Amino acid sequence: MTPSGRSARPRALETVAHWDREADVVIVGYGGAGACAAIEAAAAGASVLVLEAAGGGGGCTAMSGGHLYLGGGTRVQRAVGLDDTPDEMFRYLMAGGDGPDEAKARVYADESVAHFDWLVEQGVPFTDAIWEDRHTLQPTDACLIWSGNEKASPFVDVARPAARGHKVALAGDAGVELWRHLSRAVEESGAQLQYNTAGHALVVDTAGRVVGVVARSEGEEVLVAARRAVVLSGGGFIMNDEMLANHLPRLHAKIESVERHGNPHDDGSGIRMGSAVGGAAIRMSEMFVTTPWYPPSSLTYGIMVNERGQRFVNEDCYHGRVAAGCFEQPGNRAYLVADHRSFGRPDFDFELAATEGSIAELERALEMTEGSLVHTVARYNDFAAKGEDPFFHKQSQWLRPLDEAPYAAIDCSLGESPYYAFTLGGLRTRPSGEVLNEEGQTIPGLFAAGANSSGITRSARTYCSGQSVGDATFFGRRAGRSAAASRAW
Ligand SMILES: Cc1cc2nc3c(=O)[nH]c(=O)nc-3n(C[C@H](O)[C@H](O)[C@H](O)COP(=O)(O)OP(=O)(O)OC[C@H]3O[C@@H](n4cnc5c(N)ncnc54)[C@H](O)[C@@H]3O)c2cc1C
Repeated sequence: MTPSGRSARPRALETVAHWDREADVVIVGYGGAGACAAIEAAAAGASVLVLEAAGGGGGCTAMSGGHLYLGGGTRVQRAVGLDDTPDEMFRYLMAGGDGPDEAKARVYADESVAHFDWLVEQGVPFTDAIWEDRHTLQPTDACLIWSGNEKASPFVDVARPAARGHKVALAGDAGVELWRHLSRAVEESGAQLQYNTAGHALVVDTAGRVVGVVARSEGEEVLVAARRAVVLSGGGFIMNDEMLANHLPRLHAKIESVERHGNPHDDGSGIRMGSAVGGAAIRMSEMFVTTPWYPPSSLTYGIMVNERGQRFVNEDCYHGRVAAGCFEQPGNRAYLVADHRSFGRPDFDFELAATEGSIAELERALEMTEGSLVHTVARYNDFAAKGEDPFFHKQSQWLRPLDEAPYAAIDCSLGESPYYAFTLGGLRTRPSGEVLNEEGQTIPGLFAAGANSSGITRSARTYCSGQSVGDATFFGRRAGRSAAASRAW
């Protein structure tokens, strides 16, 4: 069942007495992936119908910060003097040890510049400027930011660092500006849009080919024929408690302490529709989770410790990679320990767990085992003074002994600090968007993209800001083109 109570069980073609609507390509979900699929399918000459559950389009894409992870030598990278190549970008995407999809990473890196240029052709503006300081979202309209782990170990050891977070030109959150241009391009493409219409099952013929969609619109069932193909682009499942309990039980158990980063229709219905016709759902236990503890970037000089006073990550990593580490600590407890020189109040709403005149007093205030934090800080300081971090390989730029009183512990524990999460798992697809079953065979007539699929973003440990919208728009386009090129039935 989908959360709406409607069954995702596929409907047999022979039971369909009539179709209410039809198009060559039917797209389920009108966010970033759906819009880009629609533009490309229409450009390829297909008639396109987009079904959208909400009263308007945009989904999470319009709510987003408007970061897209792009590189390989985009116009903006070149303008600010950054030297990036598709190979360096590919090496970066493959680093981190979370089993990246090599075929997707390769094509994403190779065609990233072309995708940037295509977005510009759709009218999406980018300003040729870079925000150098560590930040979750550059507050100005400057385009580029270091939005991932590019300068941190182990990534820096395998790929030459380059800033690849491209924000659409708008101060602050810019997803709305991206959506303004994409939705205008869809309207100009001739694609038809039907709002307040939620797909909940697929129609299949006797050979297992997907030939249509069963949807619900204002209390009525709507049967939509897809003469060439269906593209599933309905987003993730962070709003679906049953799916969270099944696939992400540790997150589900703590969900009261986490803000679900999503829209009300992030209910996994597209993933269920695809699974119900045999599509493999993969990486379903992966999520993006973060607690955005910087800016200020000076906190990077601090150390992140668990309730045992032990470090567990290099603090120069992206906030999401650090937060994923915090989430995994005993009791989900973590503290950012800073000295007077490195301390600053985080932009987001964090509590101070303690401020004390010495590390020993801080350790007592945090109720840690005697000597634990004192030992960690002493060892850290010894090596930091030499510009080394043999334990976690924080880069020398951020190494400085923590030796200036007073000392503070910023509480980064789940339940005490702001945490955000969304899901990363979804249907297994080829770079073309074709949905694959458990045996790796395609399901004829079925494509998926964006958060309905498992994309280049595979885990919280390697996620970078911009990889979701980048992935959704990039692979949405490919799914749209492939769907339009499918043989009609
Ligand atoms: C506040 C916020 C900020 C973010 N910032 C960034 C960022 O800056 N960069 C980044 O890369 N990622 C960001 N993300 C994540 C990113 O926005 C999403 O992962 C990405 O936009 C997903 O794109 P999509 O096209 O797959 O889904 P969406 O854009 O969410 O679109 C899915 C659409 O499908 C509709 N739908 C769902 N089910 C059905 C159904 N059964 N039938 C019909 N329609 C359906 C939904 O209503 C929605 O309109 C952010 C997320 C949030 C919530």
